[in-house]
Amino acid sequence: MAIYQKCIPHAYHASIFEIPYKKLKEQGIKSLFFDLDNTIIAYDDEILTQKHIDLLNDLKKDFQIVVISNTNYKRVKKALTHLDVPYIWYAKKPLKFGFKKAMRMVDSTKDETIVIGDQLMTDIFGGSRFGIKSILIRSVKRKSDRKITQFNRKIEKIILKKIKKKCPALYEERLKTYVEDH
Ligand SMILES: [Mg+2]
Repeated sequence: MAIYQKCIPHAYHASIFEIPYKKLKEQGIKSLFFDLDNTIIAYDDEILTQKHIDLLNDLKKDFQIVVISNTNYKRVKKALTHLDVPYIWYAKKPLKFGFKKAMRMVDSTKDETIVIGDQLMTDIFGGSRFGIKSILIRSVKRKSDRKITQFNRKIEKIILKKIKKKCPALYEERLKTYVEDH
């Protein structure tokens, strides 16, 4: 499978609050791997709000949750202060390392696991490389992207063009709104 094909998410939603979790449960999904930066909170927010905590605590009733972040220990630990979920820092997405670690923390199979994130080049590509489904969401605050992410976004743009050309139907269904939303 070509790289651009591995960057196509299984669905797109405007935020983590818009994802049809009930449907995911019905489809047999048991574990949710969440990216942190610009997926749950913006890079310039330090800590989850009560709204985030309530959503994630509610999801814990139906799913096993792991936060997989490429950022450092201090930031992830602080962000999740008031939430009792396992997390992985320096996950090195799109490498498999962090996904493998997360998989050992849950008791679902790869088919029963989904990654949720805001970046094609880390979350979606990484999920595909590892063999799990993915949901792309609109970045909480694109302007807060860090240098490395700004670089990833440049590659993402090229990949998006390729997907649009090679897989127009999938682009239309899962990526067009994502592009329009930013
Ligand atoms: Mg992110």
